[in-house]
Amino acid sequence: MPNGESTRTIATCVDCGVAYAAEQWPDGTAQPIGARNGCQCGSTEFQAVKKTSTTGFRDD
Ligand SMILES: [Zn+2]
Repeated sequence: MPNGESTRTIATCVDCGVAYAAEQWPDGTAQPIGARNGCQCGSTEFQAVKKTSTTGFRDD
């Protein structure tokens, strides 16, 4: 696999917290897939979520 490939991750909007499937690039930036013009709330800042566990939100 060549360098410069993105990897699939999850990114959340820093403003409203909505999560998007995203691509994370080697330079650390994350680009939401399907929200390339920004979040539905109007924000364009996203934060990549580390290690994903889509069913891991239990708190007990
Ligand atoms: Zn948002």
